[in-house]
Amino acid sequence: MTFRTRFAPSPTGPLHLGHAYSAMLAHDMARARGGTFLLRIEDIDQSRSRLAWEAQIFDDLHWLGITWDEPVMRQSERMPVYRAALATLWDNGLAFACTCSRRDILAATSAPQEGQPSVGPDGTIYPGTCRNKTVQSTQPDDAAIRLNINAAVAALRADFPLSFQESLHDVARTVECNPTDLTDDIGDIVLSRKDMGTSYHMSVVLDDAAQNITDVVRGEDLFDATKIHVVLQHLLKLPTPHYHHHPLIRDDTGKRLAKRDDARAIRTYRDDGACPADIRKMVGL
Ligand code: GLU
Repeated sequence: MTFRTRFAPSPTGPLHLGHAYSAMLAHDMARARGGTFLLRIEDIDQSRSRLAWEAQIFDDLHWLGITWDEPVMRQSERMPVYRAALATLWDNGLAFACTCSRRDILAATSAPQEGQPSVGPDGTIYPGTCRNKTVQSTQPDDAAIRLNINAAVAALRADFPLSFQESLHDVARTVECNPTDLTDDIGDIVLSRKDMGTSYHMSVVLDDAAQNITDVVRGEDLFDATKIHVVLQHLLKLPTPHYHHHPLIRDDTGKRLAKRDDARAIRTYRDDGACPADIRKMVGL
């Protein structure tokens, strides 16, 4: 299959050097392989997404010389797809409603007998409070919906070890996940947030499949989250793309760049007279 990749920014702030690196790396890889490069706007968090940021992202990417080969996909337009997948998981007994607040989860995991709370790619591993509450036959829309990881592991028992191909700079390896990696290090992750009707994990898995992505190029901060994505791909019978998790661009003190770090915004470099070649040099491309 020909190489298809994407850049998937959330329009919640300016693109900074880290985003530019990710986008240029994916774009370079697609162009070098005669493949396809796509842009996806990850705007499921409508409380933080802004059209003005989206316009700025398009403008910065164009300025960097990045072009996309198909119309932009916008997550906010795909809610019916996310809802249908959630219903499939719910109907198969793989999900449950959760009414815990962050504070409830913290209180349950920091009880003295619990020891140090475990932390996974999505934060504190869910202690399971709502998992065994009265079984609801219909999926409520006023609660978060979580994946029942024990049920998922049982449903996938014939597929273990789950695996994905990880490569960077053409050095490839296979990453395997066993049931305990999932129950101990991932837990009952949120499939649908009460205020969103979906979650990053659900949407990214469904969208990568819908866009026929063969290769995901993104920051290494998402390496552990990929295990969640592989579980969802198996449960929803979707293909697993190859992954290329690249190092993060850090500031002079070694801290990773954040959206609010305006000093590293591409816009700021542009205003200061930098050219795209300067940005490439700064990120080591
Ligand atoms: N919207 C996500 C981000 O900006 C994209 C992550 C991904 O590429 O899967 O971090």
